[in-house]
Amino acid sequence: MSSALTMVQEQLDEARRLMNLPDDVYEVLKYPRRVIQVSIPVKMDDGSMKTFIGYRSQHTEVLGPCKGGIRFHPDVTQEEVMALSMWMTFKCGVVGLPYGGGKGGVICNPRKMSQGELERLSRGYIQALARNLGPDQDIPAPDVYTNSKIMAWMTDEYAKSRAGINHFGVITGKPLVIGGSAGRDTATAQGCVFTIRDAASKLGIPLEKSTCVIQGFGNAGCNVAVLLDEWDVTIQAVSDSSGAIYAEKGLDVPALIRHKEETGSVLGFAGAEEISNEQLLALECTVLVPAALENQITEDNAHEIKAKIVAEAANGPTTPEADEILEERGIVVIPDILANAGGVVVSYYEWVQNQMGYYWTAEEVADKLQTTMEQAFERTWSMKEDQSVSLRMAAYLVSLERLTEALELRSWL
Ligand code: GLU
Repeated sequence: MSSALTMVQEQLDEARRLMNLPDDVYEVLKYPRRVIQVSIPVKMDDGSMKTFIGYRSQHTEVLGPCKGGIRFHPDVTQEEVMALSMWMTFKCGVVGLPYGGGKGGVICNPRKMSQGELERLSRGYIQALARNLGPDQDIPAPDVYTNSKIMAWMTDEYAKSRAGINHFGVITGKPLVIGGSAGRDTATAQGCVFTIRDAASKLGIPLEKSTCVIQGFGNAGCNVAVLLDEWDVTIQAVSDSSGAIYAEKGLDVPALIRHKEETGSVLGFAGAEEISNEQLLALECTVLVPAALENQITEDNAHEIKAKIVAEAANGPTTPEADEILEERGIVVIPDILANAGGVVVSYYEWVQNQMGYYWTAEEVADKLQTTMEQAFERTWSMKEDQSVSLRMAAYLVSLERLTEALELRSWL
């Protein structure tokens, strides 16, 4: 199994070779500039003290402050957070945001923690890292198993660490009343479905009456299901960490969301049969959306994939070996750094609104997101055609052009 760090380094190296980039660019970008490890002692509800390990990785500041989410997950590792911060740099580069990549993580199982314990953990993470964060330094956001409520605690803790001054621009993905942006909660999925629509149109695949399979039913996966369902795409299968379900005629998405809210899982949904994760990935469908974790489509199962388009709502779901197999088989992969960039795009709008102290309407945000995603897609697609490379490599090339220019202008090479 490839580690996420090896994956991103291999991708960067391949892009360097394709682009004939100076070796120095690869040398400067192949590791994060800074990785901070913190220990967070948390008073648990039973009165005991438990220390959690957390990380924040800051890849590069060459384009601006670092930007990227914080995940709470039992499998978080330092290397994973490093890789995710690197993907954030390339993601911001593709959509033209003035940021470098950052990413944080805490090793914990949030589903086994009470709200009080989660609040103390979130506040402890910020206490330990406050001096390394800031609207001009490094700006966290939600990621796997974190949400706007956690961002609210973190923003409040940051204000406390700065003598009570509200720096709303330090964190994005906040609730609306305390400096959040309209449209941030659905932005990752919204951006993803724009890229699916654009890829389908380039490939001459009609989306109406097409079928979609989604691995992962968190913020990204669930909202992709809602949006594609509205476009008359049949959502045939979805999964979450407890298992996967399938219905040939399609799942009733609003009813499924209610079922998940009531029971905590997609399993047991009326009219759907239970399938395995392997079966889900191998289903015949128009679009497969991996929206869970890294390392899902590998050399072991890439031969089984039958989708026409794979849209990576998750970060790093496809290994480089699997990428090669999918490419040979003519399956188009919309890479994570483009497909899931909508989240950080609206995070950027949130940060801009925080700096201005003036807030846009949902329509204004939606229009801007659409324009940004369409332009990024078009630019990446032209790069793919001009250079005869995969869409992933094209996205890297678009991003690396900007990064290289900035590195040269700042004499960092
Ligand atoms: N965690 C999201 C991502 O991986 C969003 C990051 C952000 O909004 O800063 O892109």
